[in-house]
Amino acid sequence: MSDSWGNLYRSNQSSITLDWRSDPLPAREKMLAIGNRRSYGDVCINDGGTVVELSGLNKFIFFDVVEGTIRCEAGVTLWQLAKLVVPRGWFLPVTPGTGFATIGGAVANDVHGKNHHEVGSFGCFVQSLGLRRSQESDLTCSASENPELFAATIGGLGLTGAIIWVELSLKKITHSLMVVESIAYETYDEFISLSQESERTHEYCVSWVDCLNIAGRGVFFRGRHGERGNLNDSLGDNARSVPVIVGAGFPLVNQLSLRLFNYFYLRSHRGVREYDETIAKFFYPLDSLLDWNRIYGRRGFYQFQCVVPFENADVLTQVLKKVSTDKQGSFLSVLKTMGDKTSPAILSFCRPGVTLALDFPNRGRRTTELLSTLEQMIVEAEGAIYPAKDATMSTATFEKSFPRLSEFTPHIDPAYTSTFWQRVQGA
Ligand SMILES: Cc1cc2nc3c(=O)[nH]c(=O)nc-3n(C[C@H](O)[C@H](O)[C@H](O)COP(=O)(O)OP(=O)(O)OC[C@H]3O[C@@H](n4cnc5c(N)ncnc54)[C@H](O)[C@@H]3O)c2cc1C
Repeated sequence: MSDSWGNLYRSNQSSITLDWRSDPLPAREKMLAIGNRRSYGDVCINDGGTVVELSGLNKFIFFDVVEGTIRCEAGVTLWQLAKLVVPRGWFLPVTPGTGFATIGGAVANDVHGKNHHEVGSFGCFVQSLGLRRSQESDLTCSASENPELFAATIGGLGLTGAIIWVELSLKKITHSLMVVESIAYETYDEFISLSQESERTHEYCVSWVDCLNIAGRGVFFRGRHGERGNLNDSLGDNARSVPVIVGAGFPLVNQLSLRLFNYFYLRSHRGVREYDETIAKFFYPLDSLLDWNRIYGRRGFYQFQCVVPFENADVLTQVLKKVSTDKQGSFLSVLKTMGDKTSPAILSFCRPGVTLALDFPNRGRRTTELLSTLEQMIVEAEGAIYPAKDATMSTATFEKSFPRLSEFTPHIDPAYTSTFWQRVQGA
């Protein structure tokens, strides 16, 4: 198993697993609790230390079907949770683009979804959580109990200790199918107009952008929970085993495959279309291609995700231009806007603006130089880079884009660290 989703690391770390909440956590010096390793870079890596694997802590503790409150262990995946709650008329209040992420990982990265413009990030829905630190007995943290530790643990990148359980408010739904519209557009400005218009009418908005095209053409998707069918309609299949075959680590992503993919993708989404879609297909389109990250070959790939304030968002046209002229972009380029609902997290990446995510096959220095150029463009535009995806940002960038860092650091458990943390600390 690779150590994180980008397949960039061959780290030297030991691991222990926690399968029962009552299991003691052996005292070690350099520890890091992890979920399902769906982060792309090094936030879930602890080179030279020990990772505490929590994916075995996957039991539900209680579910109030009337109020829509659920408490579960931190290793429950978003997909497991969706399967339990959807037939009973509830859904995840926020979900990222993979159902394989665990609840603990969703809290620790304060993840966002296609509805950020309307409801904010995952942390906005955490009622309370159970935290195990190295030198204390288990703590309950909420807005009223240990509130500072609560705010540090949401979006806290696993550095405040191991989250053992989470209590979450769910979202009421009446149908399990989604109603989706796809709209092809030609320029980045059209994307902005479509976002502004759609955010008033649709809870979920996201766009795929053709990173080979300088104008920034793409396909805009907007969706809502449907009015057809009922709650027992299938959620779809999020983990169909369609393994991606990659001979001898040979990367399948190159300029030719990229051009072909983009051509056929745009062709299949011409004009405006409305259709019903399952939860799995709408929220987790990539999950059905098991191990799709392996198409990038043995050297792995980087993901670059940034957010820039609306007033400086034009910088993203420069970013797309740079990627297109450098001929390094990839299939999975995503644009969306974020709203102004504030997360309780001290270190949240989420903030109002436009966010862009791009994949880059690892071509060594050529790629890291490009990443560094893009990073500078984002810093100058007063934006931030997402730690969950990052493998290269500098200490200066981290400090500048997370201005409440000094409020966060006193809450770090001294026995916990990560490769990401050591990197951005310049250690
Ligand atoms: C296909 C794909 C699409 C994605 N789309 C989005 C998206 O739309 N929006 C978004 O925000 N993210 C997205 N992501 C990123 C992903 O949602 C996050 O990286 C998420 O945190 C991964 O969860 P995980 O359980 O795999 O955690 P890991 O990757 O294992 O760990 C992530 C972080 O959480 C900490 N952590 C995990 N579990 C615990 C715990 N129990 N206690 C304390 N700390 C813990 C780890 O130390 C680490 O810092 C996507 C990832 C993929 C692969």
